[in-house]
Amino acid sequence: MTTKIEPASRALTTLAEDEQLFCDSVYEFADREIRPLVREMDEHAKIPRELIAKLFDLGVMGIEVPESYGGGGASFFHAVLAVEALSRVDPSIGVLVDVQNTLVINALLRWGTEEMRRRWLPKLAADTIGAYALSEAGSGSDAFAMGTRAVARGDEYVLTGRKLWITNANEAGLFIVFANVNPDAGYRGITAFLVERGAPGFSIGKKEDKLGIRASSTCELIFEECPVPRTSVLGEVGKGYKVAIETLNEGRIGIGAQMVGLAQGALHHAIQYTKDRRQFGKPIAEFQAVQHQLARAATDVECARLMVYNAARLRDAGLPFLTEAAMCKIFTSEVAERVTSLAINLFGGYGFVKDYPVEKLYRDAKIGQIYEGTSNLQLQTIAKQILG
Ligand SMILES: Cc1cc2nc3c(=O)[nH]c(=O)nc-3n(C[C@H](O)[C@H](O)[C@H](O)COP(=O)(O)OP(=O)(O)OC[C@H]3O[C@@H](n4cnc5c(N)ncnc54)[C@H](O)[C@@H]3O)c2cc1C
Repeated sequence: MTTKIEPASRALTTLAEDEQLFCDSVYEFADREIRPLVREMDEHAKIPRELIAKLFDLGVMGIEVPESYGGGGASFFHAVLAVEALSRVDPSIGVLVDVQNTLVINALLRWGTEEMRRRWLPKLAADTIGAYALSEAGSGSDAFAMGTRAVARGDEYVLTGRKLWITNANEAGLFIVFANVNPDAGYRGITAFLVERGAPGFSIGKKEDKLGIRASSTCELIFEECPVPRTSVLGEVGKGYKVAIETLNEGRIGIGAQMVGLAQGALHHAIQYTKDRRQFGKPIAEFQAVQHQLARAATDVECARLMVYNAARLRDAGLPFLTEAAMCKIFTSEVAERVTSLAINLFGGYGFVKDYPVEKLYRDAKIGQIYEGTSNLQLQTIAKQILG
């Protein structure tokens, strides 16, 4: 697969042939292999191992990993398409794939040494899940106020502290962990480390019992004097803040894709249901009030998708995309909330129970306004850019 920027004469949502094939194949997989498991995964808050193995086989766990390292050799845009297609069926699988590609693999591709890439990229494409650990109990939006410390000792750094809310933690074999090597230097002490599961002094703490995206694991990480070799520093010592800012700027386009997929999935269910459900002697889709609500939701989804694709295309073209990424995150997450809420209304009482899929999508939508920078933080970024 190759990166292609489509000529401006095509519709903005028109995909190149390889992008369309990729997107269709991921959606077909999601429809066939994931859809039957969605309710059970939500109830048990767990993704079956066999499904994870199938995601690796499908090639969505190493989309941007170069072919020479066993990956798909595709673009960031392809990763966005995969997250959207999966999230139409289950946003929990969407975020698993999103964190793997847009945060973990992305960071390794940009800041990893050749040795790190040779060691980790083939594994990440084949069978190893990655996690990205920045947030802590006391530092969320103010992420650089983190308390986790890394103390230099001989050939090693020793990590001590706790991370909270870490997606994929239950399944991950590799963690990108941010710690401060020099608190006196403030954010200029923050450093990114590659930490393997099973490292001495490193354990996985409590798994959160969540409102939505329940199948996606979210856990605490505990570091009690955990030694990591100096060679595990990702990027430069004291430049971890740059790794965090830059990967999250890109990652939030992936969250936008998750929200668009989720909203599209809910809209699809609402259209099907309103065509089938009869009241007053006809399908409820024949009432103009319902048609207008669906039309508005479809317009919302179209706008949201355009914003995500635009931000992703800008990123792949090496053009500035910071404002567009923040705008797409805030807008898509609001659209996801609105469209899933409407879907429940249109299902009536059936929308309020777990036998139908929209109840879950409504719960799943809420996370879009929280992780990878809350909506207030996105507005702050946009305001800073437009006010100069
Ligand atoms: C399911 C889930 C998965 C997650 N996955 C990961 C992960 O994989 N890795 C990771 O590192 N983190 C992860 N997070 C953490 C997530 O990124 C944080 O929860 C988020 O950044 C918000 O931080 P906080 O929860 O501490 O809220 P706070 O920062 O305490 O914010 C609380 C409220 O205050 C507002 N606020 C804060 N500061 C300002 C300000 N300056 N101006 C205006 N309003 C402000 C916020 O907008 C919010 O409404 C995850 C969280 C969840 C819930």
